[in-house]
Amino acid sequence: MIAPVTIAFGSTRRILGRRVLPLAKALAKALAKALALPLTLLLLLAPVLDGCSTGGDARTVSAAARLEFNADSAMSYVRQQLAFGPRVPGTPGWQQTGDWIVTRLQATADQVTEQKWTHTLASGQKIPLRNIFARFRPDATERILYVAHWDTRPRADSDPDPANHDKPIPGANDGASGVALLLAVADALKKAPPSAGVDLLFVDGEDYGTFGPDVDVLLGSTYFASHLPTPEYRPLFGVVWDMIGDADLNIPQEMYSAQKAPEVVQRVWAKAKELGYEEYFLPDMRTYTITDDHYPLLAAGLRVIDVIDLDYNVHHAMGDDISRVSARSLQIVGDVAMALLR
Ligand SMILES: [Zn+2]
Repeated sequence: MIAPVTIAFGSTRRILGRRVLPLAKALAKALAKALALPLTLLLLLAPVLDGCSTGGDARTVSAAARLEFNADSAMSYVRQQLAFGPRVPGTPGWQQTGDWIVTRLQATADQVTEQKWTHTLASGQKIPLRNIFARFRPDATERILYVAHWDTRPRADSDPDPANHDKPIPGANDGASGVALLLAVADALKKAPPSAGVDLLFVDGEDYGTFGPDVDVLLGSTYFASHLPTPEYRPLFGVVWDMIGDADLNIPQEMYSAQKAPEVVQRVWAKAKELGYEEYFLPDMRTYTITDDHYPLLAAGLRVIDVIDLDYNVHHAMGDDISRVSARSLQIVGDVAMALLR
């Protein structure tokens, strides 16, 4: 009998803010008297019962979303990928990581499918590729799509030491961070299913070839764009999450995203601001476009933007290791990712 009354009290306090607290206290006092309960007990119970509240207040949901994303788990997922080694298509580290992602998703998502195919490179050489696609509430017509590339670059061709140019990068931020984000989102959705359908797409071969001109890159997203789950598949909106674990996090708006799907950019940056993350999700736009997995998806008519922190001085270098990734950054981006789903 106390619970509904106390929950309403808690929600009222949160909706109206601190200024109504004296009024709320007076109300609680009156209630306590009516219920013949000590006031202190009622006030002590309030925050506890408050936490159980799942009412329609958007701010309540946002606060809850913040608690849902476990950045420590996400960090452990980054470490696990690094332990498998570089995720270069066709290598043992790639095989093990792909199997591990599938196993994790089978424990959390409602449905997990894979796309496996062989890609013929410009050189004529063939490589195996594999997209992994996990769905929550697969029957829901309104859907949100999150994308991360799970492969890592075979060549550290931006490394200051030319001797490293043919070595595969560790890919802690460029690769592992986006995958870790999506896996931790999946954990949270397992605990509290989303209101809309949610699709998590792990694309392969984003970083395989050369950029500018682009040859043998964006392979998994290009394949997905021409092999959609159904021909009419059109999520409400989608986000590519890439390089979002940098300890020095700053994410301006990407120009091609802002041109092609401005309403999605607006939605994501407004949510970040609402959560108090304006200093990380910068309100200004980049003055250049970034080639990433959103390109083929936008070209296929999907409203997908790129959330990327390309201000990273060890990009495509051997220094892209665990020391550059922080749980704090994963928490910030994870909070935004979760809040967008509520
Ligand atoms: Zn890259």
